[in-house]
Amino acid sequence: MRQRAVRDQQRLDSGAVSSPKDLESLQRELTSLAKRQGDLEDVVLEIMERREAAQERVTELTQRVSAVQAKVDDATARRDAALTELDAEIATVTKDRQVVAEVIPADLLKLYDKLRAQQGGVGAARLYQRRCEGCRLELNITEVNDVKAASPDTVLRCENCHRILVRTSESGL
Ligand SMILES: [Zn+2]
Repeated sequence: MRQRAVRDQQRLDSGAVSSPKDLESLQRELTSLAKRQGDLEDVVLEIMERREAAQERVTELTQRVSAVQAKVDDATARRDAALTELDAEIATVTKDRQVVAEVIPADLLKLYDKLRAQQGGVGAARLYQRRCEGCRLELNITEVNDVKAASPDTVLRCENCHRILVRTSESGL
């Protein structure tokens, strides 16, 4: 389009076109071409601005993706570390349990395991200040008297949740 405008302008300047009608037509075409060029330049400008804005958005989003990825990496590393720690703890606790289980009479251990399966993983509970720490209920006076009267090696059970009650110096007896 620009070449055509230059050619038209050259023809106009050369004086080769002498008819007023042709001159006028040429002039009109030049004006029209100039306007179209202006319009196209506006379009190009707008596209460039939009492209720039899009590029900025891409940069921003890329940065956000990197930030999120860093957080994911961090969380993954912490999770892995926690899992390693848990595995070590499981191994220790399992070994400790084995040592304790070996000195507990077989029938008591069997009862404990049965209760543990029934009572959400807790088969025995501490009796603390006359309260069963398994179900959190306080023993009534008759139950307290029964516990007081029982010999130290009697296996006591909570009347409410049936868990094995473990007496300590803090049982409130
Ligand atoms: Zn209980």
